[in-house]
Amino acid sequence: MKSANISYQVTLAHPGAHIFGVECRVENPDPHGQCVWMPVWIPGSYMVRDFAKNITGLRARNETGDVDIVAIDKTHWRCAPCDGPLVLEYRVYAWDLSVRTAHLDTTHGYFNGSSLFLAVTGVESEPVSVELIAPDGERYRNWQVATSLPSDGAERWGYGRYRADSYDDLIDHPVEMGEFSVASFSADGVAHDIVVSGRHNADMDRLCRDLKQICEHHIQFFATPSPVERYLFLVWVVGDGYGGLEHRASTSLLCSRDDLPRQAESEVSEKYRGFLGLCSHEYFHTWNVKRIRPLALAEADLSSEAYTRQLWIFEGITSYFDDLSLLRCGLIDTESYLELLARVFTRVLRGEGRHKQSLADSSFDAWTKFYHQDENAPNAIVSYYTKGSLVALALDLTLRKVSEGKTSLDDVMRRLWAEYGQIDKPLADGEVEAICSDIAGVDLSGFFEMAIRGYEDPDWSGLLAGFGIDMRLRSAQSDTDLGGRAKPQSDDGRVIPWLGARLINAAGQCKVANVFDSGPAQHAGISAGDIVLAMDGIKVIPASVDARIRTLEVGQHVDMHVFRRDELMQFSVTLNAAPQTTCGLVVRDDVTDDVIAHRDDWLRSI
Ligand code: ZN
Repeated sequence: MKSANISYQVTLAHPGAHIFGVECRVENPDPHGQCVWMPVWIPGSYMVRDFAKNITGLRARNETGDVDIVAIDKTHWRCAPCDGPLVLEYRVYAWDLSVRTAHLDTTHGYFNGSSLFLAVTGVESEPVSVELIAPDGERYRNWQVATSLPSDGAERWGYGRYRADSYDDLIDHPVEMGEFSVASFSADGVAHDIVVSGRHNADMDRLCRDLKQICEHHIQFFATPSPVERYLFLVWVVGDGYGGLEHRASTSLLCSRDDLPRQAESEVSEKYRGFLGLCSHEYFHTWNVKRIRPLALAEADLSSEAYTRQLWIFEGITSYFDDLSLLRCGLIDTESYLELLARVFTRVLRGEGRHKQSLADSSFDAWTKFYHQDENAPNAIVSYYTKGSLVALALDLTLRKVSEGKTSLDDVMRRLWAEYGQIDKPLADGEVEAICSDIAGVDLSGFFEMAIRGYEDPDWSGLLAGFGIDMRLRSAQSDTDLGGRAKPQSDDGRVIPWLGARLINAAGQCKVANVFDSGPAQHAGISAGDIVLAMDGIKVIPASVDARIRTLEVGQHVDMHVFRRDELMQFSVTLNAAPQTTCGLVVRDDVTDDVIAHRDDWLRSI
């Protein structure tokens, strides 16, 4: 069979209308009629997005004229049999400011290949070339191109021809076009670039210094030379945004302007700490998920969902090491790390859904549950990110405990890298569990039954105590209390009353966002979506409703007037004691030298 010989061309057809122009040229089309298709999801984000919905004006032609093309379903098409070269032409509407899709206006262009490129059926594994055409016009004169796609003639930061080894490879290199800041650094001998787009005043030197530490940490953690020849951090800065998506040689990040450090700042602010954690997370994925891969994702056909019960490994373990690595490479101190960890505990412990959905099921059902969360999510589901990271913590501490400090989750990751990622062998269900038991030298299947397929919490408090860390639980002290620092139960020692609902400010109205299972609001009949008007006959103000509830007493009856749709309703709520789900973690000094040594080993080791 002749090579199909596939090339793409991308133009900024109409930036003001957010339209990319794409041409896909197939030199030797299938003589029976070439089929083409678009992905419905992008690797790393387990949600059906139906990228084909943004295609308009799809037509096919060859040298003799138009070729018939018909849709087979929402994302597949078939061309009439014809001689090559076959050229497919179409436009793509790109107006979604997300790291998972595409966005084009007169200030910049950004795309993931899964939003732009038709795949050519049957020859997805063949190499392809892509030509990025420079837009005309004074407005675009200083635009550059940033991508980790290998050049096939294009100059660095320039338009022109790039190449990819296959369709999967093609869509794994997002592309940014526009005026942006660039800075570069070397980590463990590997060139890294950071490209910052959007209005910002970031201290690029500082970003380089700090990211270099994270990158060197992760490379050294996996104990082999980096699998990447050159790596790109693509950062898009907006007023308020957050997101990241991992790729084999790059990552796309969306952040808020305030997340980035300004010149002359030297502190690691809470927001910058969050940004560094995001960078650490996506960079860790370079190994864990992009190369150490679950079988179901390695075999995935992007035209329909791929189901795996292993996302707790790829997102949970990555989420565990992202912040821990900031401590281990010296960017934050122990107190700061424990604050981050305690906040994760707080988020997990506040969700009763963890007793109804296992981590394995959370992963499997990500498509319909985690990625489609509604007002009942806290009652019904658990996050394979947050609980996954705390199970990774429990696993790490268990491995350290049973081996008396000789092995850890670090060793598990290095073995997964050596035996799977480095040789591109996907991971089947259960293999990580077997490796953990093997490394521990004891059977850990009971741990995994409980933590991954069960509904009970691991003994986090007991495990942490063995490493000289006190886990202290208390009631939330305000509606903005995220946990993190150990505080007294309340300022005056009184038991804090609780409504059992989360109230938010919705355009000046006090709206019930969530009603928690078995809480007072649910018992009384209050529902998510209700607009709270008055408590005990007094008007409710969104900004002060939480403080007002706190002035009441546990056991007190409160008359609440709400609008549900356009109907006025009255409910009598009996306040409960607030649950003790807000976590603080404290380092204990009154422990043995052995405990201190194990704790230091955990928090410092590579
Ligand atoms: Zn991730």
